[in-house]
This record gives sequence, C-alpha cells and structure tokens, in this order.
Amino acid sequence: MMATEKTHIAVRNLRLCTKDCLCLYVCPTGASDTENSIIDPEKCIGCGECAAACPSGAISLVPLSYPPQQAKSETVLAPAFAMAREKAHTEQLARALAASAEDEGTGRLGAAFARATRLVAEDLLRESGYMLPQSKNTHDLLRALVTAPPSEDFPAAAAERLLELIPENDAAEDAAVDATANAVEDTATDAAAGAPPATCTYRCLMCGAVFDVPEGETPVCPACGAGEDYLELIVG
Ligand code: SF4
Ligand code: SF4
Repeated sequence: MMATEKTHIAVRNLRLCTKDCLCLYVCPTGASDTENSIIDPEKCIGCGECAAACPSGAISLVPLSYPPQQAKSETVLAPAFAMAREKAHTEQLARALAASAEDEGTGRLGAAFARATRLVAEDLLRESGYMLPQSKNTHDLLRALVTAPPSEDFPAAAAERLLELIPENDAAEDAAVDATANAVEDTATDAAAGAPPATCTYRCLMCGAVFDVPEGETPVCPACGAGEDYLELIVG
C-alpha cells in the first residue's frame, strides 16, 4: 500500500503529562520533544504511536481538517439561540451578584452560578452551528467582530490571524461539490461524444465527499486531502 496523506497530528496536554518520555522513545520521526514539551507539527506524521504508548492519556490525535458541520433546521436554531441569549443575560446577573456580594459565600455562589450558566450557553451555541472553528458560521462571526469590534480591547489582530490560520471547511465542501458536479458533467460529455467513461468514483471515509478520478490515477480526496487508505471505491 502506498504512503498515505497526513490526516492527523498529535497534541500533548501538559496538565496530564508526567514527563516519563515514553512518547519520545516510540516516535518514529523525533517529533515528540519532552524537553520543551512541544510536538513538532511539521515532523509529526500522525501515526498515533505516542498516544498509544502514553500512560497518562496526555496525547490526542487531532484531524488536520474536519468534515463540514451538519446543517441545522430553523426549528432547532431559533430556540437554541433564544436560550443562549437568556443564559448570557443570566450570566451577567450572576456576575453582578458575585461582584456586589457582601459576604464570601454569596460571592462564591454567584461566581459558580455564572460559570455554570456560561457552560450551558456554550453548549447551546455549539448545538446552534458553532461547533467547529473551521465552520463558515464561526468565520462569519469572527469577520463581523473584526469589522465591528464589540469593545475597545477586542483583539482584532488575533482574530484576523485566526481567520488566516484556520481553513474554512464549508469552502472545502463547496469545492468537493463542484468537483463532483464537474466530474458528472465531464462523464456526460464523454458519453455524448461516444467515448466510454474511463473514471473511478470514490467516497472519502474522512469527510464523506464523493468524487471521480481518471482510471489509473491515484485518488486523493479533493475536499480534505485524504489518501487512498481512507477512500472507498464505489464505481470503477
Ligand atoms: S503521532 Fe507519530 S509522528 Fe506524531 S508525535 Fe506521535 S509518534 Fe511521533
Ligand atoms: S508518554 Fe505521555 S506522560 Fe509520558 S512524556 Fe509523553 S506525553 Fe508525557
């Protein structure tokens, strides 16, 4: 089997790492450095040996690109946004209560209530389509915040840098749809010209994209870059 595209890289949770260096011993590329605690994303090939060896569960493999989010219906979005707004308001009240509390117990109760409310609001927003930083929703939100910062100390430069660094995966899905549409169109043109369609159709097991490649060519997913090992031959 040919070498596959890199689809994941390893990341280390420093709070869990006990510095026993097992990940360093098993890493085939020298990507895991326990001196500076960094796993070099350039050297890491995403093989997962370090995660399997780590006794502390400190290493995770994260995908280089995520599949697009599932679209949510308005029936889900409207109540989720309404509840998130309500929770945001409740959090503000709890923070004000904590700040103005005259005794320690009330202050701690207000702060704990604010934190709990924030967690629920964050979950609601994830359910409302803000699960991934790679989503179009999140990109649109960041762009809106850069254009109209909500406060003077909003870190607009950092937000712009995030927009540069994090690819928008809905754009990748559009590209995959275009590629599939083009492949279908090409096949139809070939058929019309009397030529037999000499293509193979694959489905990407990583992101779900369906696409064609000319027979004999090595398939690579046009949406997420997954290689042959992660592709299922559907027709061909
Ligand atoms: S995933 Fe593989 S290459 Fe990457 S740090 Fe872990 S062992 Fe090394
Ligand atoms: S194997 Fe796990 S606990 Fe040990 S040094 Fe590596 S990351 Fe830390």
